Amino acid sequence: MTDFEAKKLACPCCRHEFESRLVTGFVIGEKDSDFCPKYLDGNPLPQFLHVCPECGFTGFEADYRTLIDEKIIKRVSTLLAGFHWTKNQILGGAERYRRAALIGIYAGKRSAEVADLYLQATWCSRMEGEDDDEQKGARRKAVKYFELALAAEEFSPDDMPVVHYLLGELNRRLGNDEKALKHFSKMDELEKVDPWLIEWRDKQRALIKQ
Ligand SMILES: [Zn+2]
Repeated sequence: MTDFEAKKLACPCCRHEFESRLVTGFVIGEKDSDFCPKYLDGNPLPQFLHVCPECGFTGFEADYRTLIDEKIIKRVSTLLAGFHWTKNQILGGAERYRRAALIGIYAGKRSAEVADLYLQATWCSRMEGEDDDEQKGARRKAVKYFELALAAEEFSPDDMPVVHYLLGELNRRLGNDEKALKHFSKMDELEKVDPWLIEWRDKQRALIKQ
């Protein structure tokens, strides 16, 4: 069962106050090879992002509390004005994550956080029945921001196996076989890689024609 709890939020951009719902519980079954969860009782991911009905600001509950820098708020508000928001517009999950990623970039979020938002956009896109072509734009951006995050050394050593696995798998799904193989091989240079992750890597690597 996905559980919710009512929560009052105040938009950091337009100050509008509205009631949203916080996800307080859900059940995950297995995961796809790009870690897309297979939820047993509906996809709760869209509900993690709250959309201001007045201006279209989209973010996690924490974003509503932490976005306080006036300069950044102005920058995000300018971005939102470009979306031509219609009051009370309904956004699907994929659209929410793509929008939150873009807002995150304008708000100065770390590349790793932006990458994660784009990755989750591809998951929602799949769960909402969009075909793989629709997912590709967000997947390319996820790869780009994971790479920027790597270059900026945003990940701890413990994160590295999963990051290289994901970059391998996302590149494989994009048809960038050479880059995929490079990231899959990188995992051999790392200390302490969980055996299940090696197993997943081997399975996905075998799908690439060499
Ligand atoms: Zn607002």
